[in-house]
Amino acid sequence: MKSESVNITCTIASSESVTPSCKGAWNLGTACGKCQRCLATAPAEIKLLQRELKMYKEAWIRELGGTLYRKSHLIDALCLTTLMLREELFALKHKMRIDMLNANLAVRDECIALWAQAQADVAAKSDG
Ligand SMILES: [Zn+2]
Repeated sequence: MKSESVNITCTIASSESVTPSCKGAWNLGTACGKCQRCLATAPAEIKLLQRELKMYKEAWIRELGGTLYRKSHLIDALCLTTLMLREELFALKHKMRIDMLNANLAVRDECIALWAQAQADVAAKSDG
């Protein structure tokens, strides 16, 4: 079978997503890629691609912390979870910048107070 005659869909084969057998065929480009028959009869290049996709999926989910937002399609869940984590990170970075700015302002105020106290001490010594 020529690989260009195979309709490659971005289906991720996994044991939890096995569905009843379809009537599709790999050589006609109508295989669903999900049912037991399709999984068992998939050409070697499809099986390799499915293993790669499974590896990418698992790595991506692992890097996202292992929990995904619920969506109908895996790609939507991966993208939404990535987006939400990026927004959380952005908000956290923003809060850290504000906290650091407030800490710097507190140090500045402390230095001004110490300087004023030192000047008052010097003035008191020169008066007495
Ligand atoms: Zn099928």
